[in-house]
Order: sequence, then C-alpha cells, then structure tokens
Amino acid sequence: MSHTKCHGCSLCLLSCPMWRQERDVQYSPQGIFKALQHNAALSEITPALFSCLLCGACDLLCPEQIDITGTIKTLRRAAFSSGEHRALKKEIESQLKRPTTEAKAEANTIIIPGGALRSMPATLTKVQALLSREARAVLAKDDGDDIALALEAGVEISEHRRHSFLEPLQGAKRLYVSNGLLLQALRKWLPATALCALGYSLSQLSELTTKLTSDDLYLIEARAFHLDHQQTITHYDQLRHQQGCRTNLDLQRNAIPTAAGGLNTLHPTIDSHAQGRWILNGHRVARIIVECAEDGQAMAQLNEQPVLHIADLMEHANDV
Ligand code: SF4
Ligand code: SF4
Repeated sequence: MSHTKCHGCSLCLLSCPMWRQERDVQYSPQGIFKALQHNAALSEITPALFSCLLCGACDLLCPEQIDITGTIKTLRRAAFSSGEHRALKKEIESQLKRPTTEAKAEANTIIIPGGALRSMPATLTKVQALLSREARAVLAKDDGDDIALALEAGVEISEHRRHSFLEPLQGAKRLYVSNGLLLQALRKWLPATALCALGYSLSQLSELTTKLTSDDLYLIEARAFHLDHQQTITHYDQLRHQQGCRTNLDLQRNAIPTAAGGLNTLHPTIDSHAQGRWILNGHRVARIIVECAEDGQAMAQLNEQPVLHIADLMEHANDV
C-alpha cells in the first residue's frame, strides 16, 4: 500500500475534519500512515480509520499523491476481516437490499437523488424539472443508498446487488448523481455514460445562481467537489466572484463537509454541529443554500439562518 510514501509533512491535517475535531495527529492520514510504518496493529488505528468522512480533501493536498481515501477504504475492509467492528459490518450488510431484477429504464437521462432529497418531494420536483431541459429526466427507482454506505464503509457488495442497481441504468446516456461516492463508483462501473454530480449541475444553471447574493453562504457538496476539483474550483470561484456569496471552502480551497449522512449517521464519530460552526465561522449570512439535502438537514439543526436547497431558489417547478 502507498502509505509507505508518507514523509510526515502534515499538509493533510489542516483540511481534515477528524483532525480538527480531535486535535490529535493520530486522527489524520499522517497519524494512520506513520503508525503503520512503525508496525502498529490494525486495532490501534481502527478508531481513526472509522472516523474518516472520506471527504477527499486530503487526496488533493498530499505531495506524495498517496491515494489516501482508497487506502483508508482498504484498511477498513482489513479491519472488518480481522473482526473489528463486527456489529457495524452486520448492520451495513443488513441494509444491502436483496437483489431484484429490474428492466432497463426507458430514458436517456436518469436522476439518482438519494433518500434525503427524495424525502423532499416539492424540491425533487423542481430538480427534475430543472434537469429536464434537454431531455426528460426520470427518477431512478433505486437510490443505491445501501451501496453508497457499503462503499464508504469498505463492506463487500454482492455481484447480484450491484447488478440489480446497475441494470436499470444501462440504457441511459446521462446520469445525475447526488452522492459523491456513488458517482465515483459509477464512473468505473458505467464508463460509457456521462456521469454528472447533481449539485454541481444545478450550480451551473444561471436562473438559480443569479438569485444568490452576498448575504448567502453557498454549501458545495464536498465529495463531488474534491472528486472533480480541477474543473469545479474554477466554476465555484466564478460563482463566488459573480454573486459575491460565501462558500464552505477553507483556506486551502477545500470544501468543509457537514459530516451529515452515510457512515457517520450509523457510526457517529464527527460532530455535525461542530462542523456547521466551522463552516459558519467568520461569516455573517442571511441564508444558507445547499447542494445536498443531508447538508441542509445538518445546517438547519443549528437553527440560525433559513436553509434552502439550491433548487428551491426557483419558487415553483412551473417557473422552470
Ligand atoms: S478523507 Fe477527509 S476526513 Fe478522511 S482523512 Fe481525508 S481529509 Fe480527513
Ligand atoms: S500530506 Fe501525504 S505525505 Fe504529508 S503527512 Fe499527509 S499523507 Fe503524509
């Protein structure tokens, strides 16, 4: 594994939510890799391994270009194999749906919104209308939330389950995907399909972004942002300059995640409230606009400013 290349420069620490929370180098890629280089047992690094949000910020910062998130996922799998966190593994396996045989969807464009956005039907209707400009976009029947969770945890996904998720998507030319980890996996599984981050795609629509003001804090979905960083950083810089809105980018130009959703919900290690306060730190804003429904739920719990999904900048789906 590439952790042997870590020379301990600490660059990965400053954007790392788990290091920021713990203020202990053990809770950082540097801490994990240095421990392994000095023959630590897997059980000694397990707390840090399962605190990582897989936000992807560290992957961009490491001068040795270590695949940090890939290594952490591999180490999580090894921890499960050695019996660590057996109950957590069983819980995730129980969430993996029984495979069902689905017909291919008769649509060129499919949206995979994820469970959180699906629980906001009025917002989801606007998302669908906004993404149906060039071709009618249909909603996937299967959100693959269980698959995203298994990917994050490092739990094996059966071939049957993977097939049942992918089969209905096979005919599509374009997929809009809310979950950044699912997006990353789908790019490997469906290489011929155009795969777009849902939040990023909405952030490119001028009828939405022109409604952003300098009183808004705009929350970029962290995983998708880090996945396509070279392309997305220019886009969000332009958005910030044009509209004057603030964003959740830190001083190293990485997106601070809220820690909402996924593994951190099932196995809480990172405090979403503290993450929200970190994001708000130094900003006085009237509204918070989010790309990701889970981020919206986390920020709403702070009870400070109104929180809107970016699609809700459109008052009615008919306005689209
Ligand atoms: S992926 Fe995010 S939480 Fe995990 S080690 Fe990297 S910066 Fe820290
Ligand atoms: S940035 Fe890379 S080389 Fe530097 S301490 Fe972190 S993991 Fe090690």
